[in-house]
Amino acid sequence: MAVIGCGLVAAGPARGFTLEAREPGRSEAARALPELARLEEPGAAVLVLRGEVPAAKAAELVRLVRAAAQDARRRFLPPAPAGLQPVDVCLLADTARYRAFLDALLGPGHGENDLGLFNPYRRVVAANLDMPPGHLRHEIVHALVADALGPLPAWLDEGLASLYNEARPVEGGLELGRTYRLDQLRAAREAGTLPDLAELARSTGRSVYGARSRAFYSLGRFLLLHLDSRGELRAFLAALRAAPATEAGQREVLARFVDWPVFLAWEGGLPEQRERASPREALPVR
Ligand SMILES: [Zn+2]
Repeated sequence: MAVIGCGLVAAGPARGFTLEAREPGRSEAARALPELARLEEPGAAVLVLRGEVPAAKAAELVRLVRAAAQDARRRFLPPAPAGLQPVDVCLLADTARYRAFLDALLGPGHGENDLGLFNPYRRVVAANLDMPPGHLRHEIVHALVADALGPLPAWLDEGLASLYNEARPVEGGLELGRTYRLDQLRAAREAGTLPDLAELARSTGRSVYGARSRAFYSLGRFLLLHLDSRGELRAFLAALRAAPATEAGQREVLARFVDWPVFLAWEGGLPEQRERASPREALPVR
């Protein structure tokens, strides 16, 4: 589930600390894969890209990972603590190889899906290259967020990572798309199952990864897109970090930054289809 999956939960490891600090070496399964590139940037752990993929594809994925990491730092991420272990970013060419890798990494019966994962204990991102590239960006952002912001509430962790499921390169960074999961947000609104700010503040991993996961994921993504569109995303995250790590603390910060009727009106005005949507990026998830 969440701890070994792409999401962190509140009970996860403390900021910048993983079990690896007490265990020799990193994941053998990861390090058995050939190294393709190392991305080193100030204020972040080294990302070691690994896998058996053709050179042209590897170069494309290096660009994709670098663009996501740079954009997240430019947009909202504070610097991570110094001295972190590298993150192994393992690129698996297809679903069969991805599943075999996860079995080696986590042991059989792990229950993970085929979309991709970040494992904070092993400091491994795994990407299934049969899936749309947005999933790799999503998992990279989970890894960067875990290092720079520490364990976050599940809705926020998934919201930040989901910003990057739909993105395209533009001058100076990435443009985050505004259609990914919009249909799920609107379906939840229509069905009356969309959480409000109070429910978001008291939500746990159990709620976010439970039966209403689409409502929580989509609301998280679009609330954060809304804050980003107002230039308030970084300040919102800083306020959350400064607030007590309680339901009341979250509720106060959410109420301070989000005017619920204004958010709903903004969302209601978004067009359903972005221009020139890529069919692969438009694939439904879950
Ligand atoms: Zn995730």
